[in-house]
Amino acid sequence: MSNTSFFQSVEKNFEKAAKITGHPRGLLDQIRVCNSVYHMKFPVKVKGEFQVIEAWRVQHSHHRTPTKGGIRYDSMVNEDEVMALASLMTYKCAIVDVPFGGAKGGIKINPKEFSTEELERVTRRYAAELCKKQMLGPGLDVPAPDYGTGEKEMSWIVDTYMALNPGSVDGYGCVTGKPVTQHGINGRREATGLGVFYGVREAVGFADDMAELGLSTGLKGKKVIVQGLGNVGYYSAKFFQDGGATIVGIGEYEGAIYNANGLDVDAVFNHRKSSGSILNFPGATNINATAEILEQPCDILIPAALENVIHEGNASKIKAKIIGEAANGPVTAEADDILTDMGVMIVPDMYLNAGGVTVSYFEWLKNLSHVRFGRLQKRFEQGSNSRIVEAIEELTGKKLNAVEVDKIIKGPDEIDLVRSGLEETMINSYHAIRNEWKSNAACKNLRTAAFVVAINKIASDYLALGIFP
Ligand code: NAD
Repeated sequence: MSNTSFFQSVEKNFEKAAKITGHPRGLLDQIRVCNSVYHMKFPVKVKGEFQVIEAWRVQHSHHRTPTKGGIRYDSMVNEDEVMALASLMTYKCAIVDVPFGGAKGGIKINPKEFSTEELERVTRRYAAELCKKQMLGPGLDVPAPDYGTGEKEMSWIVDTYMALNPGSVDGYGCVTGKPVTQHGINGRREATGLGVFYGVREAVGFADDMAELGLSTGLKGKKVIVQGLGNVGYYSAKFFQDGGATIVGIGEYEGAIYNANGLDVDAVFNHRKSSGSILNFPGATNINATAEILEQPCDILIPAALENVIHEGNASKIKAKIIGEAANGPVTAEADDILTDMGVMIVPDMYLNAGGVTVSYFEWLKNLSHVRFGRLQKRFEQGSNSRIVEAIEELTGKKLNAVEVDKIIKGPDEIDLVRSGLEETMINSYHAIRNEWKSNAACKNLRTAAFVVAINKIASDYLALGIFP
């Protein structure tokens, strides 16, 4: 395991890039530090007894507001972890041009040990505590799901906020990742996994980068291992499979399975649901020490569970040529150096898992505009496209069949616009960080390049204020 804490690891990576940017130390320190750390304790009745619940909300940077970042429920949550995750959110938002400062929340509970009613009580009380401190609101701080939370928790948060702020016209934008029926947006649930897919697809599209790794371009036939079959891991695995890759290994906390010939993601998901474990999946080899899944042969490794899983102790055993960081902080700063020296390409978390916050941004925009994406233009575009098809048919004298016409004229639904915006964001942002990596000899890898890009964007906000000379 690593001797470096998660936050220290983020700071170490920050410093590697900070010295390249040449910005004044004071400005770099202002960008690096966490602006507000709120540690709270509150009582909640659990199984008939009052229990003191420990929780945090960290706002890392207010260079842009509102601040934004998920809420994690886990028995291992601690202040250092929430600070690290909040700071990664700042850099992430800058990389994908989402106009928020970074934040993160955490509640130190094992949600599996709580009933739905108890979880609701904890969540509502946490939301109320944030309201008391002016740390929740569409213009203040906007949480989202993270490890151990999902749409259900987000709907309790928005309901609590609206109860405490009656008549708030933009109130539904106080949290994202809500159910679609409760002011959420189509495409948010799978957004992080889809972003992971778009990002890695872009990375494997560069022939010169792949040649250096001894790989062909494209995802077709690439062997992929995914650690974690939760929201991010499941959707990443699904999109890789649909995109032509072969999923050869999947790890969960109770164990892992490997099959060099491929695993069907939905079949594994259903097997785990019905049997209670990922182990003993037909045709696959069991790996009881679950972390060993990371060391199995593959082309692309996708850690999608928790931080610090690839460290000094196991980095040299990694066989993958590409690591796509779907989780936040899965590779420690020390392991990052070892893997870079081994020639492994790491597509960093602060870029690769930004699909979630990108679509959260779209959800927030939808909440502020009070209109579903596509509602105004869908029929209009359909009409324009029909007239173009009719004109072409008239000019050429050829008639298209009804299926062809439908395909061409279809106006965009909300999901089409969300996915198009996400794809555009992931492609553009990859090009920006790759350009920095390739054009700046001081950037040893994509992570340092991503930090340089993020730091420069945040610095330009502060410099525009004239605070720093
Ligand atoms: P989740 O709770 O939906 O899923 C996490 C999964 O990992 C669970 O199924 C859990 O059982 C499994 N797991 C736990 N320990 C494990 C271990 N040692 N080995 C293998 N599997 C293990 O959480 P999530 O939302 O998918 O988040 C996963 C990671 O992605 C986190 O690092 C989170 O910060 C990051 N992330 C999430 C989002 C999002 O939109 N949910 C966005 C960006 C980043």
